[in-house]
Amino acid sequence: MVGAGGERAGESTYWGPDFGELATADPEIAAVALAELERQRVGLQLIASENFTSPSVLAALGSTLSNKYAEGYPGRRYYGGCEYVDVAENLAIDRAKALFGAEHVNVQPHSGATANLAVYAAFAKPGDTVLAMSLPHGGHLTHGSRVSFSGQWFTTVPYHVDSATELIDYDEVRTLALAHKPKIIIAGATAYSRTIDFAAFRSIADEVGAILWVDAAHFIGLVAGRAIPSCVPYADVVSATTHKVLRGPRGGMILCRSEHASAVDRAVFPFIQGGPMMHAIAAKAVAFKEASTPEYRWYAQEVVANASALAQSLEARGLRTVSGGTDTHLALLDLRASDVTGVDAERRCGLASITLNKNAIPFDPQSPAVTSGIRVGSAAVTTQGFNTSDMSIVGELIARAVVADPATTSGEAELASVADGVRELVRAKPAYPRRTGDLAQ
Ligand SMILES: *Cc1c(COP(=O)(O)O)cnc(C)c1O
Repeated sequence: MVGAGGERAGESTYWGPDFGELATADPEIAAVALAELERQRVGLQLIASENFTSPSVLAALGSTLSNKYAEGYPGRRYYGGCEYVDVAENLAIDRAKALFGAEHVNVQPHSGATANLAVYAAFAKPGDTVLAMSLPHGGHLTHGSRVSFSGQWFTTVPYHVDSATELIDYDEVRTLALAHKPKIIIAGATAYSRTIDFAAFRSIADEVGAILWVDAAHFIGLVAGRAIPSCVPYADVVSATTHKVLRGPRGGMILCRSEHASAVDRAVFPFIQGGPMMHAIAAKAVAFKEASTPEYRWYAQEVVANASALAQSLEARGLRTVSGGTDTHLALLDLRASDVTGVDAERRCGLASITLNKNAIPFDPQSPAVTSGIRVGSAAVTTQGFNTSDMSIVGELIARAVVADPATTSGEAELASVADGVRELVRAKPAYPRRTGDLAQ
């Protein structure tokens, strides 16, 4: 089963897009698209929020559905000619409801951040108090950072991870909730590798009468694949992206209980958005269909197994995993033992064709622009068919790149040798394999 799934992903499903028309009409932009396709093919893509979406999703995104204005909702539009886009949006909604067991779904948010803006608009007024995970401990910018609307328009109180276990400190969440009586409690993060105790959050929210909002942007794809427990039964509202582990088009969505349906729908349109992107909504429908298959469930399990294998391989080479491991698609590594900063590690890996990002670790002594950590994710490489033994090699390559100083001759040679190792891995299991006649040969 494992081998069969890997072969399915690597050999037949993920053909690259066809840029024929574009190459003739606009060679400059075609060259950019081809160069990006090539970059995705020749390196290791380990950014935890990225994935390789399917040619079917890309086809829906590139369709004439993009031309259609459809302000409003299916059957209640402000424009004529919506009979076909209505079918697409209803399919997306029905498939998402079935996939996640949700009572109501809004598939119109243009992105995760936009979905979050709509959730704030549906459940809070400017000045209200929101309890959310601290940004340097793994939270998202939209969870109360001063550089985001969320930190400027709302009073946000941050909760943290415990300094010893590096797991969410649920006692602190409860203490802060009792002290500040927030309107909303947000569970969900962008750099937290462990499953979240949604039942604990539910009981704290009930105790203080707060709305429980789960921002599942990162892990909704693991929920879809039944690889981690679902947040949907516990939350009043769930916001998510469709392009991370879920492997659909770039976009957002909101799932909620029926009682909140009209507040959520009115917040998305007309409060914060105008016309929905019908091509993206159709592509979301395609992704939900793909995510309902046994192949996708196998994929989601493999994503988690691969992230674990990568974390173990890095641990074995002296890079400490924050919280001691991962239950999801991502791992956060503490580089302090090697005396290399996050920013240097990111640059060195980049020189060796390994794309990952620097990331603050909890209680990081370095500034957010430097950091002491890196974040890695397994969603994209698992799509191209990598298995746990490939991940162990990936860990070895990262560990070698991190300590190779490009300012020295030996470091430069080492990074070139790591890049050779990367090329060998991706040649065996390419993302978007080449075909005869492919413009991107
Ligand atoms: C990625 C992410 C978002 C934002 O999604 P965009 O599509 O980039 O706007 C919001 N919340 C969390 C927790 C995320 O990880």
